[in-house]
Amino acid sequence: MEKKCLDCGDTIRGRTDKKFCTDQCRNNYNNRLNRDSNNFVRNVHGLLRKNRRILADLFDEGRRSIHKDALFALGYNFSFFTHVIETSDGTKYHYCFEYGYRETGNDFIELKQNSQYIEYQ
Ligand SMILES: [Zn+2]
Repeated sequence: MEKKCLDCGDTIRGRTDKKFCTDQCRNNYNNRLNRDSNNFVRNVHGLLRKNRRILADLFDEGRRSIHKDALFALGYNFSFFTHVIETSDGTKYHYCFEYGYRETGNDFIELKQNSQYIEYQ
């Protein structure tokens, strides 16, 4: 069976277990793979950092309650958070690093800061 190089698509000659025609093609392929996954990580991290900055600024200004629309208007992205902590009474806090919030009804949220070390299970 004819095998094609994963990088350039040329037919591979020789051993059938080879995936690339040359070392250069293997390097190209792996570099591209790393770059793509690094870009993804960088983009997600950027969103998380932006969310954290927004929460941190509000918290530092003394704000403890804010409407979700106001948070959204500041550029907050509710899809991205680092973790969720559920307290013993069932309240869920969404965190971006050490800043988090819980929903208090009527689309308002309450801000919270928790720098304590988190134990992962
Ligand atoms: Zn190739």
